[in-house]
Amino acid sequence: MSLLYKSTRNGVHGVSASEAIVKGLASDGGLFIPEAMPKMDKSLEALAKLSYHDLAYEVMSLFYQDFTEEELRKCIDAAYDEKFDTKEVAPTVKVGDHYFLELFHGATIAFKDMALSILPHLMMTAAKKVGIKNDVVILTATSGDTGKAALAGFADVEGTKIVVFYPKDGVSPVQKKQMVTQVGDNTHVVGIEGNFDDAQNGVKAIFSDEAFNQQLQEQGYQLSSANSINIGRLIPQVVYYFYTYLSMVRMGEIESGQPLNVSVPTGNFGNILAAYYAKEIGLPLGKLICASNDNKVLFDFLQSGVYDKERDFILTTSPSMDILISSNLERLICAVSDHSDQTNDLMGQLTSQGQYEITDPMKAQMTDFYGQYATQDETKAYIQEVFERDGYLMDPHTAVGYGVYKKYQRETDDQTKTVIVSTASPYKFTHSTMSSLASQYADMDDFDLIDEMHKVSNVTIPEAIHEILESPIRHRAICTSDEMPAEVKAFLNVK
Ligand SMILES: *Cc1c(COP(=O)(O)O)cnc(C)c1O
Repeated sequence: MSLLYKSTRNGVHGVSASEAIVKGLASDGGLFIPEAMPKMDKSLEALAKLSYHDLAYEVMSLFYQDFTEEELRKCIDAAYDEKFDTKEVAPTVKVGDHYFLELFHGATIAFKDMALSILPHLMMTAAKKVGIKNDVVILTATSGDTGKAALAGFADVEGTKIVVFYPKDGVSPVQKKQMVTQVGDNTHVVGIEGNFDDAQNGVKAIFSDEAFNQQLQEQGYQLSSANSINIGRLIPQVVYYFYTYLSMVRMGEIESGQPLNVSVPTGNFGNILAAYYAKEIGLPLGKLICASNDNKVLFDFLQSGVYDKERDFILTTSPSMDILISSNLERLICAVSDHSDQTNDLMGQLTSQGQYEITDPMKAQMTDFYGQYATQDETKAYIQEVFERDGYLMDPHTAVGYGVYKKYQRETDDQTKTVIVSTASPYKFTHSTMSSLASQYADMDDFDLIDEMHKVSNVTIPEAIHEILESPIRHRAICTSDEMPAEVKAFLNVK
């Protein structure tokens, strides 16, 4: 009997992994989660000998049980190939006394590549398995990095179309250029007059509009999502927590079986939730340090048990974490709930009242998590500190993860080794990174700073950057969040 999935909102049960991947979001508005957590059935010693690809197979086969070994290995091999600039895929590097798990070695130089290079393959395999004849239309809201990674993954994939919505003034110039220069006849990129949450809400509204979905179905289309709410994105992220743990063992930094903390720069709560899943299935992780920027809704929640989205949205130097509705938190809420309608009720309150409060028994099950935040000024100082001390240039997101770890250490004196998750190449955020080093860079623009960054850091300019410098702009559409359905229809030529 294969592992089945259910909705966090308790309205949908008994769904296969394939079906969950194709659908993206459950029809009751919830997120798909395993009906029961699987357990890793191999020892750490056995796993330590594996390549990234073989490890990915061991982890993913626990969750995607209706895929054959051949199918899953094909997806893994197609995803983690020369698109990554290192054979290791996700190397852990030691920098002075600190450890960084670098997740930015893929095609679009941010951690989203870890999941989005495999999602198209999982999705097309899954669509075939569940007998979908319609074209799959991927709708994605992005805070900057998901959009490009999804576009790169789905461009020219037969049987798919992809529409990406980004906040038109809420992404970095390099992020924007990466998206608007995207090639592929099946791609469509639209700027939203609003922030990421507006874009994400717009996409969620389209998914739950049954009449709209019906109309698309009749004209040959099936909607799906490449956002981190898709279980097809979450599980590939579990792999690198195993990989970094085993790398730390191989490097002689920890003994097999000892705890390891991770500090994760967090926005939509996807990356850190993958760490939680890794721990749940048997990886001996210690604290899961949830690092926020000035949009510190998760910090406040972990402190008080109250999730309150009614606050000002702050545009920061770590735009991929500028999020007030962390969608994947719903999966954690469900995991610590009594599995009745509790999650559904709380999410209902979030929509109707803008906030909810969890119970004490729920809070008591969340002690794995530690939350803190770093302000923009602090983030600048951390970038400078690490560069001057260790010669390692962090992007602002990674710097939030680093800084929150330092705060955690000061506050708790916990000596457990900790891996800081590095989620983007500094080349994606040249202005905020370079202006942290010296004020002379503040007046220069993102593109001029590419060469300067190369000069001071000696880090090779990634292929992804060369690419955007040479490519013409292909996407100019802008709309309001109300106009999103019309924008989708027009692109698909649906009347
Ligand atoms: C998406 C993103 C994050 C936040 O990850 P979540 O899974 O949404 O918590 C952090 N840093 C970078 C660079 C990102 O692209």
